[in-house]
Amino acid sequence: MEHSHLIKPLLDGVYPTIAYGKGVYLFDTNEKDYIDGSSGAVTASIGHGVPEIIEALYEQAKRISFVYRAQFTSEPAELLAKKLSEITKGDVNWAFFVNSGSEATETAMKIAIQHWQEQGIYTKNKIISRWISYHGITLGALSMSGHVGRRERFVPLLEDFPSVSAPYCYRCPYNDTYPSCNLLCALELEREIKRIGKKYIAAFIAEPIIGAAGGAIDPPRGYYEKIKEICEKNDVLFIADEVMTGIGRTGKMLAMENWNVAPDIVALGKGMTAGYTPMAATLVSDKVMAPILKGSKIIMSGHTYSANPQSAAVSLAVISYIEKKDLLKQAEQIGDYLRTQLLTLAKDYPMIGDVRGKGLLLGIEFVEDQQQKRPFPKQFKVTTLIIQKCMEKGLLVYPANSGDEGVGGDAIIISPPLVITKKEVDELIIRLKSALTEVNKELN
Ligand code: PLP
Repeated sequence: MEHSHLIKPLLDGVYPTIAYGKGVYLFDTNEKDYIDGSSGAVTASIGHGVPEIIEALYEQAKRISFVYRAQFTSEPAELLAKKLSEITKGDVNWAFFVNSGSEATETAMKIAIQHWQEQGIYTKNKIISRWISYHGITLGALSMSGHVGRRERFVPLLEDFPSVSAPYCYRCPYNDTYPSCNLLCALELEREIKRIGKKYIAAFIAEPIIGAAGGAIDPPRGYYEKIKEICEKNDVLFIADEVMTGIGRTGKMLAMENWNVAPDIVALGKGMTAGYTPMAATLVSDKVMAPILKGSKIIMSGHTYSANPQSAAVSLAVISYIEKKDLLKQAEQIGDYLRTQLLTLAKDYPMIGDVRGKGLLLGIEFVEDQQQKRPFPKQFKVTTLIIQKCMEKGLLVYPANSGDEGVGGDAIIISPPLVITKKEVDELIIRLKSALTEVNKELN
């Protein structure tokens, strides 16, 4: 092939050329098939080539593809904002549309700070996040992210935001056990707010289930209830970063419904359009909007492509597809089936240390020693090896290790489209088994 001019994630990496996709399968230009076991980057949640979505995109394109949001609103953008307010519980009734998850969390940060400014409080500028987290790649979003690998090159440019430990029970930051730990990791938030002073803290941000930095780390019961209580008590807004978990991935429209906790601000992305076009959103509660509506009445943010009518039409079609096909139930049921298969696999593959997550957002952490939970030495690059072997076998999985101080070692996310069938899960497991067998051989 002629020299490529495209900058790829790894400049010396080998990337097959995609030809087309159908359902949970992708086909490259050599007609090799891949099961999309990760929905790309946990994005293609209803599978590839769905006619209803392509139709919606085409119909909208025939009418209007682009308008500038400061000159016009559009029917699909209005309908989508209304639909999102209906599917979010509590008083989250406002939507600000952006184009990527990073923009959604960064906008959430800005709106949280503005919320306090509009009340004459100019000191509440810091956002607390968790160490082991990923909220995006732009500098504001990265400042809120506990992901060593993605931060280290830019640390001098980042805001020095505070962070607290993640609710990572497999390797408890307190070396304790749930429930006798009394949720020390949640209580740490209160200690951190006190240490810095609540007059400086605008918000706390968390992914309901930690994705890219942790491999689907889900918290113990009671964790978010405690977090919400601490936030409310200390006048700290609670931002749920549902970029990865939102719109059905965990078997609920929003993952926070799993704990019945209502956030003040929600960031959405990925599954919102299931990858058919780029779109993301920052959803804001009446409570957060009230002083802004009374005050300046303007959110000082936005992008040329914000609220793009084509993407809004796609997102409406994706949400309607999820509802019509009952994919929330499907995510829960097939998720349980997939989890059971992965747990069975752990009996034959001692390198599987932990299987975790919710619905169809599942993670596996790999260890050298199952009993001791000892991670593989870093130089073995086990995650990379697993990703490569899976790819060779025709299976896509998503890497989730965040560097030296992230998860204990190596982890992947398995998050196929919500439409995956039992038969396709069985095929996914066959391919995963075959990849792990080879990885085992290479490591021994
Ligand atoms: N927030 C979470 C939880 C994510 O998983 C991601 C991406 O992986 C982002 C934010 C950033 O989204 P994007 O890559 O669309 O900028």
